[in-house]
Amino acid sequence: MDSSDDESGEEYLFKIVIIGDSAVGKSNLLTRYARNEFNLHSKATIGVEFQTQTLEIDGKEVKAQIWDTAGQERFRAVTSAYYRGAFGALVVYDISRRTTFDSIPRWLDELKTHSDTTVARMLVGNKCDLDNIRAVSVEEGKSLAESEGMFFMETSALDATNVNKAFEMVIREIYNSVSRKVL
Ligand code: GDP
Repeated sequence: MDSSDDESGEEYLFKIVIIGDSAVGKSNLLTRYARNEFNLHSKATIGVEFQTQTLEIDGKEVKAQIWDTAGQERFRAVTSAYYRGAFGALVVYDISRRTTFDSIPRWLDELKTHSDTTVARMLVGNKCDLDNIRAVSVEEGKSLAESEGMFFMETSALDATNVNKAFEMVIREIYNSVSRKVL
């Protein structure tokens, strides 16, 4: 994490990663949050991309650099560099696809293996607009999150339900837990 002083006060910058199986909606969660856009037929390009969002907390400018795997996970090849330096993570499944929920423990293991610090983690059940074809109950999501000591939220990148809330909760948690500043 970086922090520096300037005329407008302190600034913070930290990295957040979004992980989860292919097509759970990671890219769309990010574009919904960063640009308030949604793509029905988005096709991820290979590589790593990030967007920076600024939030004001306690009169301080807090910048979150939010990284998207941009399709790397299709080849089971999310590299350790992707995780390096992350202070927060959104771990995403699709509430209409059971297999994506079953993969969560594997993603949590991977995050743990590659992270070098305590990571503020949120379990995200995306596509809650697809309630009519739901394959994972809210209770199951909640209970997994509780057992792992993570936050939990169901979101929809399509209709924007809880998207800002989810990112901002993670950003605030990181901000609150940072007790020392690194220049
Ligand atoms: P990624 O591979 O995890 O980055 O997933 P994408 O963001 O590329 O989304 C995969 C597909 O799911 C796309 O066709 C999106 O339009 C769709 N999608 C993403 N989020 C939602 C959502 O909240 N609701 C619905 N119904 N579809 C979504």
